[in-house]
Amino acid sequence: MSIVGLLLAVGAPALPGARCRGRAHLFDEPEPGEPAEQVDQRHAQALGLCQHCPSLTASAAWLASLPARHRPAGVVAGRTYHRNPKNLRAKAEQP
Ligand code: SF4
Repeated sequence: MSIVGLLLAVGAPALPGARCRGRAHLFDEPEPGEPAEQVDQRHAQALGLCQHCPSLTASAAWLASLPARHRPAGVVAGRTYHRNPKNLRAKAEQP
C-alpha cells in the first residue's frame, strides 16, 4: 500500500488539503531496483510538498501515534523513513 493510501486508510485523520493526494508515487519507498538518484529526486519533491502542506501538523501527530512497526516507509509528514526489520527510523538528513 502506498503511503498516501495508508494515510487515507483506517485511523488516518482527514488531512484537508494534503499535498500528497494524487502524488503517492513521489512519497513511496524505493521500488526494487529503482535508481537511488531517482528516489532522491522524487523524495526531495515530496519533502517540498510536505513543507507547504496545511495538514503537516495533523499528519505528524497521526504518524507519531502509530506503533513504529505500523509506520509507512518513504516520505511522511516532512521526513523520510526507511524500512528495517524491527521498525522504521527517520533519515538523519532533513530538508
Ligand atoms: S504532510 Fe506530507 S505526508 Fe502528511 S498529509 Fe501533507 S503532504 Fe501528505
